[in-house]
Amino acid sequence: MSIRVLSRETAAKIAAGEVIIRPASVVKELVENSLDAGAKKVEIYLEQGGKKIIRVADDGEGIPPDEVELAVRRFATSKLESVQDLTRIASYGFRGEALASMAEVCELKIETQTQDSEVGSSLLIKAGDIKEYREIVRAPGTTVTVQDLFFNLPARRAFLRNDSYETRLVLGAVRNYALLEPEIRFEIRSNRKILDSYRPSKEWIKRILDVLPQLKKVELISISQKHQLLTLDGFIVRPDQSGEVSKVQKTFFNGRPVLYRTVYRAIMEGFGPQSNNLVPFFVLKLVSPPEMLDSNIHPAKTEVRFRDERFLYDFVFQAVRKAIHREAVSNLEGFPMHTSASSLRPYLSRTTHQNMPATPQDLPQLTMPPTTVFSPSRPVPAEISNSPMELPDSSYSQTGFWQLQNTYILAQVSSGLIIVDQHAAHERILYEEMLEQLEGVPRQRLLFPLIVELTSEESATFEEISDYLGKLGLEAKSFGPNQVIVETLPADAKFGQSDLKELFREFNQTDEVRLGNRDKMAAIIACHGAIKAGHILSQPEMESLINRLFCCKTPYFCPHGRPTVIKFTMTDLDKRFGRF
Ligand code: ADP
Ligand code: MG
Repeated sequence: MSIRVLSRETAAKIAAGEVIIRPASVVKELVENSLDAGAKKVEIYLEQGGKKIIRVADDGEGIPPDEVELAVRRFATSKLESVQDLTRIASYGFRGEALASMAEVCELKIETQTQDSEVGSSLLIKAGDIKEYREIVRAPGTTVTVQDLFFNLPARRAFLRNDSYETRLVLGAVRNYALLEPEIRFEIRSNRKILDSYRPSKEWIKRILDVLPQLKKVELISISQKHQLLTLDGFIVRPDQSGEVSKVQKTFFNGRPVLYRTVYRAIMEGFGPQSNNLVPFFVLKLVSPPEMLDSNIHPAKTEVRFRDERFLYDFVFQAVRKAIHREAVSNLEGFPMHTSASSLRPYLSRTTHQNMPATPQDLPQLTMPPTTVFSPSRPVPAEISNSPMELPDSSYSQTGFWQLQNTYILAQVSSGLIIVDQHAAHERILYEEMLEQLEGVPRQRLLFPLIVELTSEESATFEEISDYLGKLGLEAKSFGPNQVIVETLPADAKFGQSDLKELFREFNQTDEVRLGNRDKMAAIIACHGAIKAGHILSQPEMESLINRLFCCKTPYFCPHGRPTVIKFTMTDLDKRFGRF
């Protein structure tokens, strides 16, 4: 077949197909036009999932009579004058092709009137041809009706799904804008039934809960971070939720709902390693000066690109990290938090290399009254229980710790109960403490250095990484063929001989370690050196462990991504007990 120029109709239909895919895409474009026109109220009406009728009515600025015909022309827009403007787009629309595309593939009616004109206009177009134009009088605003979508594109029409499916997609599209614009009233009706109705609200969180009522069940952390080039606001689920968290992950960039991989990655990594069953929920809004953002990389504008991806990543990552950390600290409200040196001091400061439970004499000086509603796992030393401290308030005496099966620590906080996995928590603490002091991790010198037998491969690996290990507090030397002698350990780590054997085995089996990855080494040391399940802890040890955990940057997860803390709020418990 020889090359021919396509007819105007064919070309227009093909182009229309890029923007207008299904009822939801029509609604998206029309709602964006209403928002661009400064509407305070947007009403959407559907019949047959939008296949028969889609109508979007607004109270925006309207279109002047002499411009209505222009509005449906391809590349006709009031929002962009030159290509320079493309670098500073502040409106939803700018390509001027939505109405023109719709006009090709349905019967399109525009009824509009501006604030300052006596008359409005009504324009009817079918398959690109103007069928009728007349003057009308109506309230200021615009109503666009799309009837019989794709009547002249049977293949496209056949591709549409059933009414309820298409309706759901429309709802999804509108909810995005409802989430973003809390001060605008939205209403969606289908075959005269009201599906969604959102009242204006000045408070963003109110609108979020209106649109996503399932989030009323979870606790959210608010995030707010500002910089000249970028601001981030929004909400993310608190990482220690118990139970199901629905999967809602929304990012908006300069007012557009977008999929942005860099942002997604930064959120996920800022959130911390995930255990399998917690899907982080978030609704986040990024705003940058328009010239920093390219919004014109996708016809449906679902993708954008920020000028400096590295900055974007770091900014989002830090914002999420900080918010979660701040929350973790405030979590200790009602918790006997003492920032005095003694409670933050490693609680096993004189660790021996045997896995020997600390004796009462080994305990750091206690800074809280040990009164507790739970019975402590060991008798409280006399000098501690006679401590002359006063009780600050009545609730104070209620706080205490309880060790469940020598594995989990239970503690009361003001909003309920936290359960800490002692091994995972200690692992997190050791890991962060090692990484914080890369050059000189505090160490304990072993009174009796430990000799560990290695395979020849393991000892080769050891030779390669021994300098790094020394900086992490684990000083060891080769000692005879296939033997190392361990002289120091990171302070507060607890290693028995078999733990050390495992440690060197894992170093040898981990590619990253052989490549000199210190994070990984620290993670492995933390894993083997952390107290184990089954290890009995005293009250002050438990207190210190929890205080130090919440001083960590990522307190909610161990370096492997397993949770360290689970919280049950009073509300959770009340619900479980059917109190409401
Ligand atoms: P774009 O939004 O990219 O400019 P459209 O084809 O969606 O292109 O709209 C073309 C023009 O029609 C807009 O630039 C605007 O001037 C006008 N317009 C469309 N819808 C409305 C509306 N609801 N209220 C006021 N003006 C509108
Ligand atoms: Mg538009």
